[in-house]
This record gives sequence, C-alpha cells and structure tokens, in this order.
Amino acid sequence: MLSAECQACLEQLDAFRRGEMAASDMASLQAHIDSCRHCFSYKRNEDAMLQRLLDATRNAHCPEDLRQAISVMIAKASNDN
Ligand SMILES: [Zn+2]
Repeated sequence: MLSAECQACLEQLDAFRRGEMAASDMASLQAHIDSCRHCFSYKRNEDAMLQRLLDATRNAHCPEDLRQAISVMIAKASNDN
C-alpha cells in the first residue's frame, strides 16, 4: 500500500514531466522522488518506457499505422489523470 505522499507524487508525475506545475511544487516533488526509492524507480521505469515508445515512433522502419497508434497511446496516457 502506497503512502498518501507517494500516491500524490505518482498522480502528479505527468504534470511534473510536462512542467505544468508551480516551481515550488516541482521542487518538492523532485525532493520526494530523490528520497523515495519506490517513486524513484517508478518514475525511472516509466521514463524508460516512454523513451522506448518515442524512439519507436522515430524509427524509420516503424509502419505508419503503428507509429500513429503509439502516438495516440502516448497522448492518451499523458492525458489520463
Ligand atoms: Zn514515494
């Protein structure tokens, strides 16, 4: 079971990634991630997954329909809150 602090942290990760938070909130979220093993590894895994998806969409061998499907998935994932 996640602590309330971790829960709040993970819920704000998307906004954090997009820089859509007040600087002071970004700083306290970053401080939590730096000090919390769980949130740190969660964010690292999610960053790696997003990076792989982004890389896949840039791959010239990626079929256009797959590229579009992935773009839609990424857009949906980052809009879900
Ligand atoms: Zn945490």
